[in-house]
Amino acid sequence: MCRSDRVAEDGSDGPVRTCVGCRSRAAKAELVRLVAQNRMVMPDVRGVLPGRGAHLHRDRRCLELAERRRVWPRAFRVPNDKDTFGWDASRVGALLAEEST
Ligand SMILES: [Zn+2]
Repeated sequence: MCRSDRVAEDGSDGPVRTCVGCRSRAAKAELVRLVAQNRMVMPDVRGVLPGRGAHLHRDRRCLELAERRRVWPRAFRVPNDKDTFGWDASRVGALLAEEST
């Protein structure tokens, strides 16, 4: 489960974002920001990459959920959102694999 008791209802613990994988809300600090660069989903670990971001738990299961549901075009508001194929989130997978070891 992704719940955290530290997240207060009134948001006093900082910004809250919705994970694009499991769709649950979590403190921004618990999520990794993702941005799209030419259909490459890039983890924005330093929070410096430009563009519309999406947020995902640092959890491979959430990445798998996001991929299976092909959330990327919607998450990044790509105009032609019918074209849900050809997205590459392998960089995100690599980051999560690193963090889990
Ligand atoms: Zn999640």
